[in-house]
Amino acid sequence: MKRILVLHTGGTIAMHEDVDGDVEQGAQNPLNDAHLDLPEVELTTENIFNLPSEHITPTHMLALYNRLKDAEQDFDGVVITHGTDTLEETSFFLDGTLSFEIPIVMTGAMRSSNELGSDGLYNFQSALRVAIDEQSKNRGVMVVLNDEIHAARFVTKTHATNVATFASPISGAMGMVNKRKILFFYDLPDKRTYPIKAVDKRIPVMKAYAGMDGHILSLLADSGIDGIVIEALGAGNLGEDAALGVLKLLDAGIPVVIVSRSFKGIAEPVYDYLGGGVQLEKAGAIFASAVNGQKARLKLLIGLENQLNTNDLNNYLHEF
Ligand code: ASP
Repeated sequence: MKRILVLHTGGTIAMHEDVDGDVEQGAQNPLNDAHLDLPEVELTTENIFNLPSEHITPTHMLALYNRLKDAEQDFDGVVITHGTDTLEETSFFLDGTLSFEIPIVMTGAMRSSNELGSDGLYNFQSALRVAIDEQSKNRGVMVVLNDEIHAARFVTKTHATNVATFASPISGAMGMVNKRKILFFYDLPDKRTYPIKAVDKRIPVMKAYAGMDGHILSLLADSGIDGIVIEALGAGNLGEDAALGVLKLLDAGIPVVIVSRSFKGIAEPVYDYLGGGVQLEKAGAIFASAVNGQKARLKLLIGLENQLNTNDLNNYLHEF
């Protein structure tokens, strides 16, 4: 008998449509009375929050981390239900802070509980099936929706409304859920995790664009931020004005992390001119590997909360 801890946090999977067809929260989570088709499994269910995931902040992620950090002693796996809008961030945060052999599986839904074609119950059952599968051990935090298994490290929400929204643009899905079997296609490269006690650092994310205004970046140099992530152009480049703004931030001792605003691929220093990645790196900007802006922000937060020195912070962000 596998013991699984289920933590419900809210999101569309816990919501329903009202008479006007608008989606709203209810007092009861519809999954609490769900009839599931599963082999022997003992579920311990906690409604830890009931929030739309836009209301989830790193403080809620920290509360989940604190609930889970000793869970390996009592459970064989964990399933967390969550709104899909920030699901990738919570999954990435937990993946970067918990080092577990037992599976942690996150899921959600794109259609609420009483809508035609509602995917919540199905995704919940799939997540439980992955959580009780022996092959799911030592894979970090996974995201399971729409019959696909994604690693928290690589997954992102790609479609605003479609049920086939979660994808891993760089790596592809890590596995799939079939009617009878769970299949995994690859193992993940090793990564380090850091424990976390606080999430107080202020780290905005800015997106680069043609003609990006460097003055706005220079204003941030004096604003008390602890770091900044810039979704730069292509392989990690900026226009001249934005590059001058980055230099001001670096002069003020603020860590500047560069990722690509492109949907696929990894930012790396290639071009040697003002604003080119080579010059940004020489000036002290950090290139983060294989993460989008919202994930780089969490990685920087975890690194700074662990007081990593410049060298360690660089290495940590460079690694997958
Ligand atoms: N707005 C919802 C949320 O993130 C979307 C969803 O769950 O699919 O809470």
